Amino acid sequence: MGVSDEDGHIMISANYLNEGDIIDIYLDIIHELVHVRQFMEGKELFDRNFSYVGRPTEVEAFRYAVEEARNLGLNDERICDYLKTEWISDEDLRQLAEALHVRCSNP
Ligand SMILES: [Zn+2]
Repeated sequence: MGVSDEDGHIMISANYLNEGDIIDIYLDIIHELVHVRQFMEGKELFDRNFSYVGRPTEVEAFRYAVEEARNLGLNDERICDYLKTEWISDEDLRQLAEALHVRCSNP
């Protein structure tokens, strides 16, 4: 799932939408809606001066997703699971979890 930096549309893989975990999809939509708002505010969504997990626009989007995850009653382990994707390293996960105050037992 992602946001186009050309027109601010959310793009979702049909496979992910059909096969993905419903909670993960919901939290991703929250995350991407933050990017849509950032896009409408004229923010640079893919600022290459930052790593993925260090980019302020990403940290803000994850912060909203984590807040919603907590509203749903998810525990830190489950939230950590959500944050752990195939494209982020263990070190990046550790950094992201720390920035979001999520306790990951074995990042
Ligand atoms: Zn993002």
